[in-house]
Amino acid sequence: MSTSRRIEINPDWCKGCNICVAFCPKQVLALDERGKAYVANVDACIWCRECELRCPDFAVTVVVERAS
Ligand code: SF4
Ligand code: SF4
Repeated sequence: MSTSRRIEINPDWCKGCNICVAFCPKQVLALDERGKAYVANVDACIWCRECELRCPDFAVTVVVERAS
């Protein structure tokens, strides 16, 4: 069984509040020049979902797909 994981950020919903960046324990996320969150260092992600849970605008989704 394989598992694929990714972080999806909807830029239309992101208001650049920086909460996900600040609460990520592994500095995975950052704000780009437009003030939108993006995944800067996915290799460090521990898939804790803090970003998804903390975003007040539901702009972050941590996707975990398991395929057998
Ligand atoms: S917490 Fe949500 S709205 Fe705030 S910067 Fe992160 S993705 Fe954007
Ligand atoms: S799932 Fe956890 S480690 Fe990964 S980006 Fe979100 S807050 Fe950071």
